[in-house]
Amino acid sequence: MPEPLITGRFAPTTSGRAHPGTLLSALLVWWDLRSQGGRTFLRWEDIDPSARSRTMQKALVEDLTWLGLDWDETVWQSQLADQHEQALECLASQGRLYECSCSRTDIRQAGLPSASGGWVYPGTCRPRVVRNWRMSHENLRCNLEGFSLTLTDESGADLSQNVPFDMGDPLVRRADGSVTYQLAVVADDAASGITRVVRGRDLATSTATQAALYQLLKVPTPQWHHHFLLREQQGEKLAKLHQSVGADQLRQVYQAPQLVALLMQVAGLLPGPRPEAGRPVSFEPAKVEPQDFRFALRDFSWHRVTQEDQTLLWDGQKLSWWSRE
Ligand code: GLU
Repeated sequence: MPEPLITGRFAPTTSGRAHPGTLLSALLVWWDLRSQGGRTFLRWEDIDPSARSRTMQKALVEDLTWLGLDWDETVWQSQLADQHEQALECLASQGRLYECSCSRTDIRQAGLPSASGGWVYPGTCRPRVVRNWRMSHENLRCNLEGFSLTLTDESGADLSQNVPFDMGDPLVRRADGSVTYQLAVVADDAASGITRVVRGRDLATSTATQAALYQLLKVPTPQWHHHFLLREQQGEKLAKLHQSVGADQLRQVYQAPQLVALLMQVAGLLPGPRPEAGRPVSFEPAKVEPQDFRFALRDFSWHRVTQEDQTLLWDGQKLSWWSRE
């Protein structure tokens, strides 16, 4: 049998402008796949209620286009409803889907902390199994009883979990009919034949849930690789939703090759001293030679990429000062 082609994807949620962490992740996915001759998908994840603004989607597309990476195929998740429905059908046929009327407050009050920092769903509605899920107007969860998984990703991170205990049964379809991230990401990666999932460490705690869904859908699991994160000085990871420095500001301050150089430096991919653990990295544009992202392909290797999360040293005032220079 021929080896399956190495295939991966970058799958940003369209809930906000790109920030440096989004662009870093896009570069790492691209370097990882292109350096192995792999195929790359760009999948815009636009099904979440927070990700449906056309204005935001357009801005994010422009931000990524500005960076200049190329992709073999681009898909929008909202157009993949058929494969989401097939996945729901498959789970329902195994008696794994159930209706759930518990509120967030109910779940919080059960008091079971989850591996991702939220609350574990305590399984209250598990007996309410539903086969004809299309007729349902309630939230649907997937019963993951029995999924205690031993899992290590390519970076060596131990992602083993007893899924119902550590994360709880995932919501897979909301009462309004929209499918959730956990189900859609698995259905879409499986349908695109994704063999490698490179993404930020913030998603690592979801991997065992997704591995369980792969098993239920009877499709081979990809190789996962979770990379380091960029953090703000307050310690939070950069995120679209809490208005980290966005690409609109970045694009006023940097040329794309300058930002590529700064991100390569943060990742430890430029010659010279590697970023020191715990020491914030300055993003001053004058500090590095601009780089063409294609040149990093020649000797890209995960052994060279820093494993520790990095803190960015900047603030709004400094950015506007640099942009005036
Ligand atoms: N859409 C997710 C995000 O932007 C990433 C999905 C994934 O890589 O699994 O955080």
